[in-house]
Amino acid sequence: MSPSIPLNIAKLQQRIAEAEQKYQRKPGSVQLMAVSKTRPAAMIREAAAAGVTEVGENYLQEALDKQQELADLKLNWHFIGPIQSNKTRAIAEHFDWVHSVDRLKIAQRLNDQRPAAMAPLNICLQVNICDEPSKSGLGLTQLEDLAEQLVALPNLSLRGLMAIPRATDDITEQRRAFALLSKALDQLQPKYPSMTVLSMGMSKDMDAAIAEGASIVRIGTDIFGPRQ
Ligand SMILES: *Cc1c(COP(=O)(O)O)cnc(C)c1O
Repeated sequence: MSPSIPLNIAKLQQRIAEAEQKYQRKPGSVQLMAVSKTRPAAMIREAAAAGVTEVGENYLQEALDKQQELADLKLNWHFIGPIQSNKTRAIAEHFDWVHSVDRLKIAQRLNDQRPAAMAPLNICLQVNICDEPSKSGLGLTQLEDLAEQLVALPNLSLRGLMAIPRATDDITEQRRAFALLSKALDQLQPKYPSMTVLSMGMSKDMDAAIAEGASIVRIGTDIFGPRQ
């Protein structure tokens, strides 16, 4: 298993470059995030040695432990899981990005708890793009309101949108969902020019996401293997 992490990353970078070319995206415009929930710190270290700089984690305590073990590395940490109010302080203190903001209360707390000495916390709003009752995220019609309230918070930097569409193997379906997120960003862009990031695409739908404008893809399985 272990020796395959650098190889998997090299293959992914190749796949990303091919998709950029195939879908007329600018070369190098799609960033790779390694999603490392449930994986030991040693695996992240291997990924970092293979060129990964962006690391995504879903669970706070697990992430904090790994950050400590990897403090000697220069990594950007992205929080991508659901956020409970009692976790906002540690998230504000220990992450560079949060991709899963979907309500004002959480944004407000992150803003208030972001240490003054740190750069503003980068935020993506999570959209429930397929309207699934089981999933986090706000509806497309609620986006503008939250964006408006969020840009007023000085310790946050509103950077873009994130979504986890319904799982399907049909690339046409995958593209349809990602296109909705992409269109939503286009509509917000004139009023909120700092919003340039589309956080979309996982191991099974990465190519569709790149086709529709992803700027950062969040990949776990295709880097580290299947989760237990
Ligand atoms: C687990 C997870 C991923 C990575 O999923 P894979 O299918 O393993 O690539 C991406 N984004 C989020 C929000 C996740 O929770």
